[in-house]
Amino acid sequence: MAQARRATSIIATVGPAVESDDKLDRLIAAGASVLRINASHGDRAAHDAWITRIRDAEARAGRPVGILMDLPGPKLRLTGLDGAPRTLDVGDTITLGDDTNAVDLQVTIPGLLTCLSPGHRVLIDDGAVRLLVEDVDDGQATCRVMTAGIVSQGKGVNLPDSDPPLQVPTDTDFDMARWAISRGADFLAMSFVGNADQLRALRGVFPAGEGQPVLIAKIERPVALDHLEAIVREADAVMVARGDLGVEMEIATVPVAQRQILATTRRLGRPCIVATQMLQSMIEVPSPTRAEAGDVSTAIRDGADAVMLSGETSIGDWPDLAVSTMARIAAVTEANTPPEDDFPPDEGLDPEEAALCEATWSTLTRVGADALLCRSRHGIWGMRMSRARLGLPILVVTDRAPAARRMTLLRGVLPILVDELPERPKRFMGLTADALRTALGSTDRATIVAFRATDADTDEPTVHLSVRKLEA
Ligand code: PGA
Ligand code: MN
Repeated sequence: MAQARRATSIIATVGPAVESDDKLDRLIAAGASVLRINASHGDRAAHDAWITRIRDAEARAGRPVGILMDLPGPKLRLTGLDGAPRTLDVGDTITLGDDTNAVDLQVTIPGLLTCLSPGHRVLIDDGAVRLLVEDVDDGQATCRVMTAGIVSQGKGVNLPDSDPPLQVPTDTDFDMARWAISRGADFLAMSFVGNADQLRALRGVFPAGEGQPVLIAKIERPVALDHLEAIVREADAVMVARGDLGVEMEIATVPVAQRQILATTRRLGRPCIVATQMLQSMIEVPSPTRAEAGDVSTAIRDGADAVMLSGETSIGDWPDLAVSTMARIAAVTEANTPPEDDFPPDEGLDPEEAALCEATWSTLTRVGADALLCRSRHGIWGMRMSRARLGLPILVVTDRAPAARRMTLLRGVLPILVDELPERPKRFMGLTADALRTALGSTDRATIVAFRATDADTDEPTVHLSVRKLEA
């Protein structure tokens, strides 16, 4: 039961490396619980094909798999270089503008020149090539090449010192979000979030009622750290997007920012993903560096719900091996991380709900339980218990496939989908015995069964707790 014993969720980005059914099946079998479509690549037909392919693979695997649609946001890119890469040498003078200017390099943002000033850095291709602005007039910015390299059409551009008027979300984000929701995407990630209003704007296109995806705020601009608290409160989940963060801010501060984001999300009860370059060298070789293994382990020890793979699984040579390697690091790290002493206070919870969570948690600890099994139609109760870092599996039973899929992000949670969710505790116990046995194997230790429902008579939240031992 190695799978059941690893609590951290693994997100794997899909791409050319896993385009066959067989490779996708192996990715899931290796332990990926959420698959990410990076919408910066491919057109709608390609995204549509991925959704179909993932749902088919999910059906073959027989367990819920989440789909994360990562919206591109206002990523600045180089244009005007069609088909002709250009070599820049240290000390060269280069002119820069938007696509209305006759210059050496164009950047896809109207009014670029209004936000550039002498002394600002222009970083191309994740900072591989660096320019320094020396002079700006209304026709062009004159820049000096500080770090040499080859630049080509479509490469990403970051302006860490400028405050470009970025539209977030973009029109494409809105359009893509509507479409992805209609196609049943479980998670929508919003890129380059700067403040909570931008998240609220995207939420505006979500349908009312149950079809709502989990909204993930990607923290990848320093300005987001200034508004972190408000962003985390508005988001359903958060991603430490270290790719862009690492070029937008001093690289030395990224690990500290990661810890700060993790602490804030833990305090406010939001799941958190740590992303980018986690096992980067596995794009090419079949084992990670010691530093990468340490990075994954640190993120998990600091409380991440999920760790993410990007190029490792989308374009790498060892996609399923990258996932199983991450799973092994997670399993060992978790086994050596002592469970937390207290149920963490959740500032987002009302006192009655918090008391019910704590009562469940304290019963688990007192009887030395092996697992928690709970009824949670929409997965909310599962999410709350997941925060406690119990060090034991939380099996969450629901009758809603979308709810089961949205639980795939949560640390320690194993969603179980049933046809019919019983309304009475006694029937729930009967129905779930098999599910327990399948997930845990034989165990003679206690399991806590938490039947969480809204009391039909009083309309109040209630939890019916019972302690059960499974027959071998
Ligand atoms: P991206 O986001 O891969 O879409 O850029 C993740 C990151 O920036 O780390
Ligand atoms: Mn990014």
